[in-house]
Amino acid sequence: MLILGLETSCDETGVAVYDSERGLLAHRLYSQIAVHAEYGGVVPELASRDHVRKALPLIHEALAEAGHTVQDLEGIAYTQGPGLVGALLVGASLGRSLAWGLSIPAVGVHHMEGHLLAPMLEENRPDFPFVALLVSGGHTQLVHVAGIGEYTLLGESLDDAAGEAFDKAAKMMGLPYPGGPELSKLAEQGDAKRFEFPRPMTNRPGLDFSFSGLKTAARTAIIKQAVDGVLAEQTKADISACFQAAVVDTLAIKCKRALKQTGLKNLVIAGGVGANKLLRQQLTEMTRKLGGQVFYPRAEFCTDNGAMIAYAGCQRLLAGQSTDLSLSVVPRWPMTELSAINAIELT
Ligand code: ATP
Ligand code: MG
Ligand code: FE
Repeated sequence: MLILGLETSCDETGVAVYDSERGLLAHRLYSQIAVHAEYGGVVPELASRDHVRKALPLIHEALAEAGHTVQDLEGIAYTQGPGLVGALLVGASLGRSLAWGLSIPAVGVHHMEGHLLAPMLEENRPDFPFVALLVSGGHTQLVHVAGIGEYTLLGESLDDAAGEAFDKAAKMMGLPYPGGPELSKLAEQGDAKRFEFPRPMTNRPGLDFSFSGLKTAARTAIIKQAVDGVLAEQTKADISACFQAAVVDTLAIKCKRALKQTGLKNLVIAGGVGANKLLRQQLTEMTRKLGGQVFYPRAEFCTDNGAMIAYAGCQRLLAGQSTDLSLSVVPRWPMTELSAINAIELT
């Protein structure tokens, strides 16, 4: 089955052509970073407009690279939520109307299910069941995954998402937007022992997270260390290293706890923060010690992309699910509300 995937939930326009037999044939990504950089965060209306500008040219490019035309498509998957309502509507109206015009089915995909299944695009794929750590700009969740659509929430952040905390800490130090990758690059030159940052909520039972206190700890260090409002470059790197170590330790402690609690051995990391090298290293070591394995998508499929939406949508379309002609997007949408799909041979 030849699927077109469309991702427009936030500030990335992602397009992919995926074939259930041959795998991923082509994908394109346009990031709106430059559009939003001067505002220090995503401006929703600008995001919607940019998706309108970019979606069609990217679809043409991806189809051409895949060696197909629009007429060859057999299904369309678009992100139905969660995300920015205007941005979601661009992908949904495009995907839905394209499918209607071609008389093929369309399916609205849950953005976080897309992230969660992204490791399935790689050669080294996990078998169900597994524990997933979803760490992105808007979510930090530990999920028990029994199969596609069979999700049990084990724990989540009570305040900021991990990616959001990275971005805010970076912004406080004047790093360019989006700060997560910048902060982690700077951390490589820093001393992770110079400041003592907390590992929030690790010394009590449970699998929930809280990252706002860590942000405050970073702010306190920044204020203390700044001379005439300016931080020395080495101090910035040291704060970055300490901050990153604190987030990664906290995530690793909770992942270990989740594996022990569920008795599972395999862990999936997905979402933008999953691109973080230290996090990957620490989780690889931790799972190995437990006799398990960690799985993650290639770095470019950790952040938003069309390939993960095409893959997730393809599984649901193959199982006979599709979304009706009414155009609806779901800006807030708990992943646990998704329906399971009957056990089918996954592609
Ligand atoms: P959500 O998926 O929850 O709706 P989102 O789509 O905005 O949110 P993603 O695109 O999955 O989030 O990820 C973006 C986030 O990942 C940003 O907060 C960014 O700073 C963070 N991020 C990306 N690379 C790294 C890295 N190497 N280290 C730390 N954080 C990173
Ligand atoms: Mg993004
Ligand atoms: Fe995302």
